[in-house]
Amino acid sequence: MALGTYKKKRNFRETPEPAGSRAESRSGRQKPKIFVVQKHDATRLHYDFRLEMEGVLKSWTVPKGPPKKVGEKRLAVMTEDHPYAYKDFAGVIPEGNYGAGTVEIWDHGIYEMMKGSVGKGHFSFVLLGKKLKGPYALAHLPSKEGEREDKNWILTKLKA
Ligand code: MN
Repeated sequence: MALGTYKKKRNFRETPEPAGSRAESRSGRQKPKIFVVQKHDATRLHYDFRLEMEGVLKSWTVPKGPPKKVGEKRLAVMTEDHPYAYKDFAGVIPEGNYGAGTVEIWDHGIYEMMKGSVGKGHFSFVLLGKKLKGPYALAHLPSKEGEREDKNWILTKLKA
């Protein structure tokens, strides 16, 4: 997993976001993996849902925010991997830059994988955050005919 797309989209002389590198991520498989949800008041308010995997933060944009009730489903659009250091980012991305607007940390904590994987297109995991707790699943939606984008996933809160 690489950060090329992340870096290409940003001018680090202007944005306060971390430039990041894979070297910053923690090594050691025994350590609990982290998740973070950032509330991002950009062109459109949305929530960025990020899970630490293989040294980076796998990222999904959730327009309506993560579900809090069992059975609720939310569209989650996969975006570029973010550097591990992004977990602590909160601040203002200046006008004229990618994602211009205010970012705040809405929730964070650790998570545990249950079943599946990103590569398989579906996986479940347990979140241990302040607002988000319990089992969740992310499932890749099959792309519709004629669609070029293939980034839509569904985030569901599962029954504990
Ligand atoms: Mn965002």
